[in-house]
Amino acid sequence: MRVNLLDLDAGAMQRWFASIGEKPFRARQVLRWVHQRGAQDFDAMTDIARSLRARLAEGAEMRAPAIVGDSTSADGTRKWLLKVDGANAVDSVYIPETGRGTLCISSQAGCTLDCAFCSTGKQGFNRNLSTAEIVAQLWIANRLLGRKQGAARPITNVVLMGMGEPMLNLDALIPALRLMLDDDAYGLSRRRVTVSTSGVVPGMDRLAEECPVALAVSLHAPDDELRDRIVPINRKYPIRELIRACNRYLEHAPRDFITFEYVMLDAVNDSAAQARALLPIAAKVRCKFNLIPFNPFPHSGFERSKPETIRRFAEILQRAGLTVTTRKTRGDAIDAACGQLAGKVADRTRRTSARRVAIPVREAA
Ligand code: SAH
Ligand code: SF4
Repeated sequence: MRVNLLDLDAGAMQRWFASIGEKPFRARQVLRWVHQRGAQDFDAMTDIARSLRARLAEGAEMRAPAIVGDSTSADGTRKWLLKVDGANAVDSVYIPETGRGTLCISSQAGCTLDCAFCSTGKQGFNRNLSTAEIVAQLWIANRLLGRKQGAARPITNVVLMGMGEPMLNLDALIPALRLMLDDDAYGLSRRRVTVSTSGVVPGMDRLAEECPVALAVSLHAPDDELRDRIVPINRKYPIRELIRACNRYLEHAPRDFITFEYVMLDAVNDSAAQARALLPIAAKVRCKFNLIPFNPFPHSGFERSKPETIRRFAEILQRAGLTVTTRKTRGDAIDAACGQLAGKVADRTRRTSARRVAIPVREAA
């Protein structure tokens, strides 16, 4: 089988070129063609000798998932559904904002971690994506968004907030991240690439060592009792350990804070008392909060917190001096909001709804 160049970061590409007796600088040249210019075949690579192009065409290819869905919502949010194999599809979402464009990408088809409020978790786990399948999301989006001459790049930020737990697929993710950062590929700064984790501590340590980028941590609860229930990985790595891991991460991170994501679930984790209970946690690590209004999906068993509740929750944190942003719900009509991907399309629910009702509803505070 031909080698898929989308699987290779610069180092791997150079090694592959060496293995076919070519000079390493050719690898960089090809890297630029593939990623900066989005070349889909070798004929396009006009500054490369015809003989080398022919050799490349024999031994290599750019093999990306097929685009099986492409929808744009009224606010400009665009979602692609990519078929990664006969049974699985993942999506990526482009969110344009003034002055920046964020691409939200997936790292796994499905997820093993089964957070109570997550539609990806409800689908069960299918498999890890390869480096090529992760990078292809960027490669495809760049091509379809186009890049007008002289205009700013459409994609300025990448967030690993689509399907899957990135820290459980670091072998494939790290080379993909390196390509995102590589000036000969996507040239994004480390601060503009964000990995989101539900708190897989060993993965955080490894990422810090091997490829530190901005980090978002899905906190979602102020105490272990509740977090154990809605983010089950907490039973393995409880909040105390998670915070220690955040502090270790910050020693390497390109930003001097961790972003805590906090999904706003009506009458589950959104009381004033729970906001106050976050303060001692926030005191232990430099952090910002990103409140995410829950994106409902059928039979989730949860509801989105009321806007007024979210506002009050934010205010308590802000009064304590914390920086808080509340995520705008975007792309609702196409189910493209980050954190709720592929739910409708791949409705292959394997987990029974019985698991979902285990969340007792707290008395309103
Ligand atoms: N597995 C990683 C990254 C993917 S999920 C993680 O859990 O962090 C990206 C974010 O979306 C996480 O904070 C996740 O908790 C949140 N999320 C999942 N389902 C959601 C939903 N239905 N509504 C709002 N946010 C959700
Ligand atoms: Fe997996 Fe993240 Fe969904 Fe939890 S929230 S099930 S870790 S994708």
